[in-house]
Amino acid sequence: MRAVDDGLRRLQVGQDACPHCRLPQDRVATLEHEWVLLEPKVEVPAHLVPAGHRWITLSDGRVTVYGVCPPDGSQLCRIEHRLACSRQPLPDLWPWLTALREENARATERRTDPQPPRPPQVWPDAG
Ligand SMILES: [Zn+2]
Repeated sequence: MRAVDDGLRRLQVGQDACPHCRLPQDRVATLEHEWVLLEPKVEVPAHLVPAGHRWITLSDGRVTVYGVCPPDGSQLCRIEHRLACSRQPLPDLWPWLTALREENARATERRTDPQPPRPPQVWPDAG
């Protein structure tokens, strides 16, 4: 049984060079019958990786996105190489934060104040 499992795992994982930076990556089969390039030898606590980018390895060697939210504190996950590739633009990892930044940019353009707010003359006693 172990040999069969190891054989399956070998079929699900290979090595490919990233077409952008040429660094070797792990090419791994997904549950959706596609392939994903994962950063080799890197496992990160899931809570440090944005949701939707947390890849976990299944017993047959394929990977899937870890969907538990909030993530288990002990869960490790793998990350797609495109997040770490120096030759590819970083995707929008935090869409809600991007939306907030865009709203703040619009709010800044709408302001008519000639000067930014001044700091208080007397700082509160902090302790
Ligand atoms: Zn790359």
